[in-house]
Amino acid sequence: MNISHIEHIGIAVKSLETAIPYWENVLGLKCYNIEEVKDQKVKTAFFKVGQTKIELLESTDPEGSIGKFIEKRGEGVHHVAFAVENIEGALAEAESKDVKLIDKTPRKGAEGLTIAFLHPKSTMGVLTELCEDKNK
Ligand code: ZN
Repeated sequence: MNISHIEHIGIAVKSLETAIPYWENVLGLKCYNIEEVKDQKVKTAFFKVGQTKIELLESTDPEGSIGKFIEKRGEGVHHVAFAVENIEGALAEAESKDVKLIDKTPRKGAEGLTIAFLHPKSTMGVLTELCEDKNK
């Protein structure tokens, strides 16, 4: 597959309200978007660091994947997202190389991106997201 850059790093937090001041007041980054992604049961807050974003994820439902992650492992880095040119092709390539897919077909993510996750069992424990900006 053809990865151009790290699109974002997803970080699970208990509370955006508590987390955002650290990113703004200590690290000096500006939160430019807060968005709820209902089907993923999260509220997200975004910061830009060069061309890479930081995506803070607050659970809106303890049964959602972020709710369960925090319950099991606490707050912290949740996933790494790579920008790819052809997400369908990238998924097919990963599957053909015996990587387990969470999403067999891409779906809508935050910020209008088309996204799909690779299973951490196949990626040495790093939940990996592929993203394509189809609006470009
Ligand atoms: Zn993400």
